[in-house]
Amino acid sequence: MDYFTGPKLLDFKNSPPHLQFNKFVLTGYRPISTYRDCLRSLFYLHNEFGNIYTHGSVFYHLFMNHEGGAPIYDTLLSFDMFGVCLVNTLGALPIIHITLLCYPSSRRVAMLAYLLLSGYGVHRAVTAQSNVHRLQSFVWQAMFRFILFMLRLTGAGRGSPTSLRLYLTMDILALLGGLVNISRLPERFSPGRFDYWFNSHQIMHIMVILSIMYLHWGTLEDLTWLKGYHCPDE
Ligand SMILES: [Zn+2]
Repeated sequence: MDYFTGPKLLDFKNSPPHLQFNKFVLTGYRPISTYRDCLRSLFYLHNEFGNIYTHGSVFYHLFMNHEGGAPIYDTLLSFDMFGVCLVNTLGALPIIHITLLCYPSSRRVAMLAYLLLSGYGVHRAVTAQSNVHRLQSFVWQAMFRFILFMLRLTGAGRGSPTSLRLYLTMDILALLGGLVNISRLPERFSPGRFDYWFNSHQIMHIMVILSIMYLHWGTLEDLTWLKGYHCPDE
C-alpha cells in the first residue's frame, strides 16, 4: 500500500457494521485500520475524504474505521456531538448578553437557563441513537434563541439592527443542514452516485461552516454596536 493509492476499499455490504449508517453510500468504505492507516487515509480518496476536509470534526471522520471498532466509533461520535453543543452554547452567550443588556437580572436567569438547557442538549446528543434524535437534541436551544430574536424584532431586546438578519440566517442554515443530513439528500435519489462527493453529510458540513460564519459576523456587528450604546436609565 502506498500513500496515494491506499488500501482496497469496501462496498456497503462488506464494510464494518458500525459504519453502515448510510445505505445510499454504496462504495468507498475504508477497511478496519490502525491509527497510522487512518492517518494515511488523509492522502487517498475514500467516502469520508470529503467529510474530513470540510469540517472541524476531523477526528470522528478520520478514525471512525479504527480497529477499536464500535466502542471507539461511539466515543468519537460523542466527542463530535459535544463539539457541536459547545459551539451552540458558547456562540449564544453573547447573543443573550446583548439582547438582554438592559435587564441585568433577566439576563442572569436567561444565561443560567440556557446553560442548563445546553447541558441537557449535550446529554441528549451524546446518548442519541439516530441522526433524527441527534438533531432533536438541539431543538430547545434553537427555540430559546428564537425567543431572543423575537425580543429583538419587537424592540424589547437590544442589539445591532443588522445582526438579527445574520443570526436568523445562521439558524436557518444550521437547521437546513441538519434536515439535509437526516433526509440523506441527494444520495437517496441516486444511491452510489454521491459516494465520494456532494452527499448529504458533506452538504451539511458546508452549511454548518456557513452558519458559524454568520454567527461570527452577527457577533461582530453586535460588539461594534455595543461600544456606542447605553441603556436608557444609565
Ligand atoms: Zn460530520
